[in-house]
Amino acid sequence: MTPGTRPMIAGNWKMHGLAADGLALARAVAAGAPSGPELVVCPPATLVAALAAALAGTPVAVGGQDCHAAAKGAHTGDIAAPMLADAGARFVILGHSERRAGYRETDPTVRAKAEAAIAAGLTPIVCVGEPEDDRLLGRAEEVVADQLAGSLPPGFGAVGGVVAYEPVWAIGTGRTPTEADIAAMHAMIRARLVAAFPGPGAMLRILYGGSVKPSNAKAILALPNVDGALVGGASLVAADFLAIAAAAG
Ligand code: PEP
Repeated sequence: MTPGTRPMIAGNWKMHGLAADGLALARAVAAGAPSGPELVVCPPATLVAALAAALAGTPVAVGGQDCHAAAKGAHTGDIAAPMLADAGARFVILGHSERRAGYRETDPTVRAKAEAAIAAGLTPIVCVGEPEDDRLLGRAEEVVADQLAGSLPPGFGAVGGVVAYEPVWAIGTGRTPTEADIAAMHAMIRARLVAAFPGPGAMLRILYGGSVKPSNAKAILALPNVDGALVGGASLVAADFLAIAAAAG
């Protein structure tokens, strides 16, 4: 944890959740939310407005999982950042590895989306992380440094943007890097944020993501420069998500 920052635990529901179960999950999270960390749930776009309404007045905020770089236009099937904000979202995940891989999102794309998010008043949660090959070849930090340089727009520091370090090979696999490897990567990210955003860079939150669960959350969240977690699978079970949140308190 970085002294002076408020930890964030964000849940990425991915393509899971119909109205009834999504609302029940969000309400259960709100009912059990501990006072320490900032909690964010990122449901499918279809549920953003309903969850924002249901969670109004609770400590749990709502985020989107992606947005388009344009504020509006002929982009069938896409969602603009002002639409997410209008629906009640405060955050948006950008550059998740599933989008980088599945939709060929590049660093400039992610950066343009982050600019659009900031213009709409959303706080971007920008994901970076190396594929396993690069980790095995000793290139993990180089790859992530390049992603940071290419994905974070100039306004990122001033709005309190969030970076999520998610090694691709740790997402949904049950595998995690060693604590030493997480700490080393987060230290490198901190150094890059400090250099890129003098002032706010020292306090911007750096989340770890990739197979975080109740059993490993405490140890991961205790590492220096780990200011919270981006949680996939475990965010779909209220008790697990809350146990991770409690570990951040
Ligand atoms: C994710 O997809 O952002 C993620 C961290 O997934 P999981 O926690 O399931 O590994």
